[in-house]
Amino acid sequence: MQVRQPQQVVTAMATQEGAGVTVHRALGTPLLPDVDPFLMLDEFKNDDPKRYMAGFPDHPHRGMETVTYMLAGAMRHRDNQGNEGRLRPGDVQWMTAGRGIIHSEMPEQEQGLMWGFQLWVNLPAKDKMTAPRYQEIKAADIPEVTRLDGLRARVIAGKLDGIAGPINGIGVDPTYFDVALPKAVAFEHPLPANQQGFVYVFGGKAQIGDGASARAVQRGSLAVLGSGDTVKVDAWAGADARFLLIAGRPLNEPVVKYGPFVMNTREQIYQAIDDFQSGRF
Ligand code: FE
Repeated sequence: MQVRQPQQVVTAMATQEGAGVTVHRALGTPLLPDVDPFLMLDEFKNDDPKRYMAGFPDHPHRGMETVTYMLAGAMRHRDNQGNEGRLRPGDVQWMTAGRGIIHSEMPEQEQGLMWGFQLWVNLPAKDKMTAPRYQEIKAADIPEVTRLDGLRARVIAGKLDGIAGPINGIGVDPTYFDVALPKAVAFEHPLPANQQGFVYVFGGKAQIGDGASARAVQRGSLAVLGSGDTVKVDAWAGADARFLLIAGRPLNEPVVKYGPFVMNTREQIYQAIDDFQSGRF
């Protein structure tokens, strides 16, 4: 067993997205542009409607996937191909944009807390122009693992203690867990050496790794996992911790990104802009 030590720890940065929504971006910043195959991770947590009501009006995507996981509040999404849905607390939407969609993601609340995450996952070159696909999973259909030590984990993708998450058919073979770790409890999980990933702490404080290389990670910070085959996270003695463990198979392909278009070459980006502007999405 080789524990994956934290390679880099970054604090999420406040930024504006959509039509003026305050988000905290942990991945997809100058400090940490990507963790192949992941391109972005935003946490949105606002109880001031002025910071979320404007939402994310119509915008395109091509060549990538967006994964929205709601913890509080409600969001309505609609796209230009007639797909529509509502995300409630605990729900997940795994959207494969493929060759292109234009969609909006708008709050369906005028007060109260809006809290969740959006992750961007790159698509392999061979799948960038695939047909768009949605996997919409209701909270009740996401299995929760409970361990004897009090650990609870929602398994969105991948497998934990033999329990598989509902997301399927994704090329990078993703792991996406939401883990609630009671104080002084440790989490260990085998993550094969051919996977890359990170831990994002969004509650309390956790220690990632072990021995002299271990690092304390505060809520709102992300730890990139180094090489090894086992993830180890310990909750601090004084408080519970909550974190996302996200991992996948790296693509090792060139990434050329222009806003919500993620392709392999500049020519493909020009094509995406042209297709979008000519109404071919
Ligand atoms: Fe979007």
